[in-house]
Amino acid sequence: MSSNEKWFSRDYRRNLVDMHIEDWDEKFLSQFDPKRYVELLKVANVTTAMIYANSHVGYCYWPTKIGHMHRGIKGRDILGEVIELCHKEGINVVIYYSLIYNNWACEKEPSWRIVFADGKTSRETQARSGRYGVCCPNSGYREFALAQIEELCSNYNFEGIFFDMTFWPGVCYCNSCQERFFKETGRELPKVINWEDTDWVKFQRKREEWLLEFAHLATNKVKSINPNVSVEHQFSTCVADWGLGVTSEISEASDYCGGDFYGGLLQESFICKLYYNLTNNQPLEFMTSRCINLRDHTTTKSKELLKAQVYSALSNGGAFLFIDAIDPIGTLNRKVYETMGNIYNTVRTYEEYINGEFCQDIGIYFSFESKFDPKDNGRNVLESTHKQPHLDSALSVAKSLISNHIPFGIITKKNLSELLKYKVIILPNILMMDEEEVTAFREYVASGGKLYASYYTSLFDKNGNKREDFMLADVFGVSYTGETQEDVTYITPCREVLEGFGDVSSQYPFTLFSSQIKTNPLKKEEVIATISLPYTDPSDPTMFASIHSDPPGISTEYPAIVRRRFGKGEVVWVAGPLEGVDFDPHRELFIKLIKSLVREGFSFEVDAPKSVEVTMFHQEEAGRYIVNFLNFQHELPNIPIFNIRFRIKTRDKIFSKVVILPEEVPLNFEVRGDYLEVEVPKLDTYLMLGIYYR
Ligand SMILES: [Zn+2]
Repeated sequence: MSSNEKWFSRDYRRNLVDMHIEDWDEKFLSQFDPKRYVELLKVANVTTAMIYANSHVGYCYWPTKIGHMHRGIKGRDILGEVIELCHKEGINVVIYYSLIYNNWACEKEPSWRIVFADGKTSRETQARSGRYGVCCPNSGYREFALAQIEELCSNYNFEGIFFDMTFWPGVCYCNSCQERFFKETGRELPKVINWEDTDWVKFQRKREEWLLEFAHLATNKVKSINPNVSVEHQFSTCVADWGLGVTSEISEASDYCGGDFYGGLLQESFICKLYYNLTNNQPLEFMTSRCINLRDHTTTKSKELLKAQVYSALSNGGAFLFIDAIDPIGTLNRKVYETMGNIYNTVRTYEEYINGEFCQDIGIYFSFESKFDPKDNGRNVLESTHKQPHLDSALSVAKSLISNHIPFGIITKKNLSELLKYKVIILPNILMMDEEEVTAFREYVASGGKLYASYYTSLFDKNGNKREDFMLADVFGVSYTGETQEDVTYITPCREVLEGFGDVSSQYPFTLFSSQIKTNPLKKEEVIATISLPYTDPSDPTMFASIHSDPPGISTEYPAIVRRRFGKGEVVWVAGPLEGVDFDPHRELFIKLIKSLVREGFSFEVDAPKSVEVTMFHQEEAGRYIVNFLNFQHELPNIPIFNIRFRIKTRDKIFSKVVILPEEVPLNFEVRGDYLEVEVPKLDTYLMLGIYYR
């Protein structure tokens, strides 16, 4: 390791064994064997092990002076034993510590409990969520957690610590929160969601601020004792709704971004790209369970699925961590470790090639302040729908770009100073924006950038004020006048530009199951599609034209799509969330609009089915591009794909060889115009290409 290289910087094969085990039965954890545990980690070819110090149950796996040891381990320091055995085997250790979720602490101190808007605490709620006891970081729990962290860091040597559950499990109305809010704002805690109410938004900002403060307190406690220990806060919450109170700044309290997810390929691809641009250090970390999900204890995912998930992380420069869960008596299923050992053994051969600058022609902007649904306005805080139209739109854009093999990244406020790296920035229905963002996007377009923006983008500021006009009205070329009452609306192409719209005509326009924003255009000639409305308002059941649907009946002059120049750049503005519609014609229109902004072409092009995602890294020092081909079909095992044509922009480089890695199988290539072209003969699940230049 060079001096500035972190212990985790070349570490891609990781594991976590969940140990959220009760101790009311003396058999629980009675068969836990540190030797066998570490032996299985060896079988799985794991390079980093995340080891439980405590769990959501709150019992400790080390002899603590501040808490309660799990009864089943009978006073043994199993944490210390596992750490020592791992280190003997050359396995790095990350300590797992559950913050906020701590049943034991919750039982012990009623004043530490998070209290919901109806006065109930988590263990008083119905069904399964009643299993979890959650503590408020504004209460005395804070000092307790910090003292345990101090004890751990003072008594053990480990490479890193993972803080799970650094988020608000619900909106807390406990005495500590009430008092703190009153002290800081002079107000009572609001209980009605309203994103146009500055008091409500102020409360949300306070919740975010308090959580961030708590995350930094935990991080600083660790670093004050051992600055070399890496800290990671659970960050799967980055795409969770506003209720969790997680901002992008939580990533600043972590040495690297990581979190656990249970969705599909689209989610994994999106998350890895979001982490890539947010993380303080590479590699990012993607975690998922070896079981179908966390509620399942025995059903292992197919090897094909695990493999596709591991390689998806790798394709985005990420480390992979698989989560297993211990049996209550303390045993583990050896077969799982054999399967993972087999997969990780192959991963090992690719590791030396993971590195470089991630190729991202398009930047999808993700706004942490837009993780809510304006339609929830007026609801009681306990009745949030948890919907996130901005995230839905952003994910949908990612899906369109993946299936069209267009290189992209997910960007956030952290990337505002480097917008000009991107050929196009997409603002998918950004629900709140501040002046810094507005200024950055305006300057980006003025200096030659290309922008796609939709729906509410720049209409609301981050304090909950609805502006009289879009903050980017001058850039969009439209001026806000209102919103359609109808939530079934149409995008009708103007006669002059019909050829860009596929089979869609002014008689049969694009349907949006959404309202659209009514505006006045700055220049009529920049409007390429207008809003059409159904004959009647769909919300009124007494009047309709056709009983099942709401066919278009009223033409308007309100712009649906505006296409214009601004400064040296160009803008496509859309009055509704077109990019979020999961229909092929809408996706095709969206891609056409994006391609029309990138006349010079993309960094690479691929002729492959939609199930193939291609990513690329440039390693200037090694004089090569690394290209990852991932085949991830809905039904596994994958049907192999043959003869994939891949073209990469030459950028005046003289290429020397194209090889399949790591075996270095040479492939023929030819240079045609601005592109080098090569054919990948066969893709099963994953293939890595090295393209070398002089
Ligand atoms: Zn509280």
